[in-house]
Formats: sequence, C-alpha cells, structure tokens
Amino acid sequence: MIKNKIYDVVVIGGGVSGTALFYTLSKYSTVKSIAIIEKYGSFGQVNSKWSNNSQTLHTGDIETNYSLEKASIVKPAALMVSGYVSSLKGEDNKIIFPVSKMVLAVGKKEVVQLEKRYLEFRTLYPDLKRLEYDEIAKIEPAITKRRSKEEMILALYTPNGYAIDYEVLAKSFVDEVARNKPPNRNIDVFLNTKVINICKIEYGYKITTTNGTFESKTVVVNTDAYGLFFAKLLGYGKEFSLIPVAGNFYFSKQMLNGKVYTMQDKKLPFAAVHGDPDVHVPNKTRWGPTAKMSPVLESRKFSTTLDYFRSASLFRFATIKSFVVILSDMVRFTFLLKNTFYDIPIVGKYFFVKNVQKIVPTIRASNLRKAKGFGGMRLQRVNTKTHELQLGEGKIIGDNIIFNMTPSPGASVCLFNGMRDAEKIMEFFGGLYYFDKCKMEDDFAGGCFDHDKKIISENAYVS
Ligand SMILES: Cc1cc2nc3c(=O)[nH]c(=O)nc-3n(C[C@H](O)[C@H](O)[C@H](O)COP(=O)(O)OP(=O)(O)OC[C@H]3O[C@@H](n4cnc5c(N)ncnc54)[C@H](O)[C@@H]3O)c2cc1C
Repeated sequence: MIKNKIYDVVVIGGGVSGTALFYTLSKYSTVKSIAIIEKYGSFGQVNSKWSNNSQTLHTGDIETNYSLEKASIVKPAALMVSGYVSSLKGEDNKIIFPVSKMVLAVGKKEVVQLEKRYLEFRTLYPDLKRLEYDEIAKIEPAITKRRSKEEMILALYTPNGYAIDYEVLAKSFVDEVARNKPPNRNIDVFLNTKVINICKIEYGYKITTTNGTFESKTVVVNTDAYGLFFAKLLGYGKEFSLIPVAGNFYFSKQMLNGKVYTMQDKKLPFAAVHGDPDVHVPNKTRWGPTAKMSPVLESRKFSTTLDYFRSASLFRFATIKSFVVILSDMVRFTFLLKNTFYDIPIVGKYFFVKNVQKIVPTIRASNLRKAKGFGGMRLQRVNTKTHELQLGEGKIIGDNIIFNMTPSPGASVCLFNGMRDAEKIMEFFGGLYYFDKCKMEDDFAGGCFDHDKKIISENAYVS
C-alpha cells in the first residue's frame, strides 16, 4: 500500500507512449510528483514490444493514406524520436536503425495515384525519389525479378528512413529519468503493478492496483488497447466501440534490402502488406501485418477477452447497428474475411502469399513461415452515434484525466503526443506548474513547429 502520498500526475501504462510522457514531464516540467504504473515487469511489453509492431518510424513519406496536411504534422512529430535518440550518448545504436523505405504502386490505377501523390508531396520530402522499373530493379531486384515489363509499376523511395526498436526506446525514456533524476521531486516507477480500478475522489483520482492504492490529482491513461476500458469505468467514451484487429506476421529468407510498403486503401489503412527487415532477426524479411478479427485486447492473451467485450459494449443496439453498417461495406467485409484465412495454421500462408507476390512475384507459400509470438492488436474505434469507423489515434479528455488510444503511428509520434499531453496537464493545474515546450522542441525538433495543427484533432473528444 502506497501511504500518505498524493501524486500530481500518475501515468498508467509503460509502453512507448506512457514512458515518453513520463520522460517529458520529468525532464521539461516543474511538476513535483509523478509516478508511472505498469502491470508487467518491464517497459514496452505490449504493442511497443519489438516483435509486436513493424518497427517503422512513420514520417508520412511512404504512408499513402496520409493527406499532405497529416504528413506535414507527422513528419516533424516523428523526427522528434530520431532527435531524442541522437541526444543519447552511446546507446542510439540499440534503438534506431537506418533503413531505406519504398512504397510500390502496381497496376495502372495505383501508378496514376502514386504519380499524383509524388507531385503533391515532393516539396515536403525533397529526398523522395520517383523510381521506374529499371531503377527499382537496381535497388530492390526481387521486385522486378520475373515480373512482366508489361505490368505497370512505380515506386517512391527514400534511402534515409529509420527502423526503431520501440521497446528499447520505452526503456530508454525511463532510464534517462533515473539517470538525471531532478532533485526535490518525487518521481516513482512501479512495475508489476496492475491497475484494477480508477475512481474519482474529491481532489483527484483513487487508483486501485495489485500493489496498493494510489492517489493522484491528475491521471493520464496510456494503455492503448485498454484506453477505452478505463474511460468507460469512469463513464467516458460510452458512444465508442472497438473492432479488434490482430496484426500478425510471416517470415521469409531475406528478399528485400529495405522496407517496401504497398499502397494503402483509404477505407482500410491498416490493410496494406509490407516487407521489412527485422532489427533483431537478421537475414530474414518480415511480411505483414495481417488483419484478423480477434476478440482480445492483447494479442495471444485470451484472458483479455472479457475486457474486450466490456470495452466494446457489444450488446447495445447502437453498437450492433454500427458493426452492421461498417461491415456491410463489401470492401471491408471481404478484406476481413480474407484475413481470417491468412492466420489459419499450415494453410494460411497459401492464401496470404498473394499479398506478398504483389511485391516479390517469385515468392511461394513454401517460402513463408508464420512469425510465432509476433504481432499486436490494432483496435479500430467505432463511433456508435455516427456508425463510423474512426481510424488512427483517439483521445478522451475528462476532468483532470486523459485517455489515449494510440494505434499506428502512435509509437512514431510518442514524444509529440507526450508534449501535447504535458501541455494539457499544465492546463489542469491552472498555472501552478510550468512546462518548457520550447526547450523540448529545441532539443529534439530543432526549433518550434506549428502547434495549432494537432495530429489527432479530428479524433479528440472532450467529455
Ligand atoms: C501489427 C502492428 C504494427 C505496427 N507498426 C507500427 C510501426 O511500424 N510504427 C509505428 O509507429 N507504430 C506501429 N504500430 C503501432 C504501435 O505499436 C503503437 O502505436 C504503440 O506501440 C502504442 O504504444 P502505447 O505505449 O500507447 O501502447 P502499448 O505499447 O500497448 O503500452 C500500453 C501499456 O499499458 C500497460 N497496461 C495495460 N493495462 C494496464 C493496467 N491495467 N495496469 C497497468 N498497466 C497497464 C500495458 O502493459 C502496456 O505496457 C503497430 C501496431 C501493430 C499492432
């Protein structure tokens, strides 16, 4: 039991988002007492774990579902991560890995779209190169090997991309706090501490955990998949449900030199398969992610099924109607149905291989092996009032409490999100504390950027 201590801020969740906020508040704010609470014995063990995501630093150049406006915000926000890593002495090579990135258009329709995109985006990404068949063949020969020259292809390519081990990044944020612990402040870390309940009390919140009870004036819930679960406990976000999409992977021997993405469908931005080198599995190419419906909040943990049902409020008429509306779209329905087959043991790869052949025509199902124990959950939010799928990040801001839902590119923009939440926390305290946003921007973004633009402004709810 944690006695006689009332924290100013408790951050729940020690993935890359929670640890980035913990680091931001510890280093750049004057908040007196901060705690981070994580249910596992180490940081970055769920979606931020190295094996559970695609390890890409999304800067918006090859993500064809981003509008120019979104890309212009994501780019500096994501580059804060590389700015942070370069500020570390000696450990950067465990977090960041230079890698080339390419997006490939196949067929006339995609080629026309990518050509148009190139013209629109090249000012924002001056390093982005437009590659035709022969140039693609030089950089990624497997893409053109035995591909008919009649088939139209086009690629956008940057040699200067990054892969990130987000698990090590999360740990490094906490290590940095420990290394430079500011004097006269209470900054505490609690591992193996699972939050069971949060309830409102007169001066803040009471947080009941497996390791005692905490009290805090403000709370930030950075539990990604569990964000809506905790919001609903406190009466927020009742209008939302979740479609539980598990993202799994396959491995082949190394076929690509860098990351190769395919074109995203705006209706299904989590759908496009890509091939990536894995920062911890040498000489292989990791393919995926798949998108199988799986009613859990944590991949491969069926103990979280009940919590999924609680978060999703499945048995409300509005929820059922929303699911029917969303899934009766034939593109989405067919896509999710197909993905169910990709994960079937032994035969799944025979269905999945078609997606990979779009990138490497010569690959065969027998070349693929399921990446066992890899992959995470990408929960897609449903607004049951409007019956719409709300893709991307979401945030619910309540009474001195924030709930973050952070699917991709949440990991890439973790420091930017931390910065924005730190600003909100300053508002909660009404001027009692100070957050040196300019210093943080100077340190990691090389100067200020436009804060009127908010990455998830369209998905932020104030309850
Ligand atoms: C297949 C896949 C591919 C992806 N690829 C990319 C990519 O290439 N690039 C990118 O930027 N993003 C990618 N993402 C998204 C990225 O993984 C997430 O945005 C990011 O990891 C979210 O970090 P987080 O800290 O918010 O959540 P998490 O890393 O999931 O952390 C949440 C934490 O909360 C803790 N927690 C939960 N409940 C409790 C509780 N009751 N008590 C205490 N602690 C609790 C968990 O243990 C966990 O540590 C991908 C995701 C998936 C699934």
